[in-house]
Amino acid sequence: MNIVSSVVEVRAQVKKWRSQGLSVGLVPTMGYLHEGHRSLILRAVAENDRVVVSDFVNPIQFGPSEDLESYPRDIEADALLCEGAGAHLVFHPAPEDMYAPDFCTYVDMKELTEGLCGRTRPTHFRGVCTVVSKLFHIVAPDRAYFGQKDAQQLAVIRRMVRDLDFDIEIVGCPIVREEDGLAKSSRNTYLNAEERRAAVVLSRAVKLGRSLMENGERKASVVLAAMRELIEGEPLARIDYVEMVDAVSMRPVDEAHGSVLCAMAVYVGKTRLIDNFIFEG
Ligand code: AMP
Repeated sequence: MNIVSSVVEVRAQVKKWRSQGLSVGLVPTMGYLHEGHRSLILRAVAENDRVVVSDFVNPIQFGPSEDLESYPRDIEADALLCEGAGAHLVFHPAPEDMYAPDFCTYVDMKELTEGLCGRTRPTHFRGVCTVVSKLFHIVAPDRAYFGQKDAQQLAVIRRMVRDLDFDIEIVGCPIVREEDGLAKSSRNTYLNAEERRAAVVLSRAVKLGRSLMENGERKASVVLAAMRELIEGEPLARIDYVEMVDAVSMRPVDEAHGSVLCAMAVYVGKTRLIDNFIFEG
């Protein structure tokens, strides 16, 4: 397995594979890889002849007061995980390899990016769409793999691929969780022992919301009130949002019909964590 930092090297490698008739999968990540990322890589390895993992903390998807500087990084451990999972190439560019000093072209989506995480993080999805577009152009994969953990991101990428005619299949993968239910996340390392215990409240709210809906409840106000009440019972937790939206348009719904997404962002101490479930009505 190779680790490369330049766009030119990635293109040369992919060109070689293409000339041999091999299919290519891409797993975009910000590194500090865990079992959640590994599940995406394993799926990509199973479905493609060659797999590229991008490992890049993308500065333009962080807001000015967010955790860009402190975001955890460990390329050596990441390389071991990628190799163990069967990836063929890790693309690990420096910010200056991706963004020229006079970089000024962005992919900016409306509507789907305005609610949920987009409300608290108004420039986040512009950064995500821009970097994912660049990765799609650099690697030109047949398939790209994203986690359902970032449900709004997955919906945004699907829409971007449709709207901008990327010839790439987007594969959504289920949320991988810790034993107690907490969704695996690179940001979980920010939690101290007490916060780590409190953080389980997100997945408990997911379980509660899902079971209410499985038992026939369809009113968003009822499901969300129960989830909010549970989270508010945890003194270390502070809700950013808990919402029910249409799973494709990301528009809020009053009642669940078809496929809906129940998503939340909750601060545990200073750490902002997300979790969600999809309910097919
Ligand atoms: P990140 O490095 O946090 O940007 O995540 C890279 C990719 O891994 C995204 O598509 C995430 O949705 C996915 N991912 C992160 N955590 C998990 C998890 N616990 N389960 C499944 N996928 C995940």
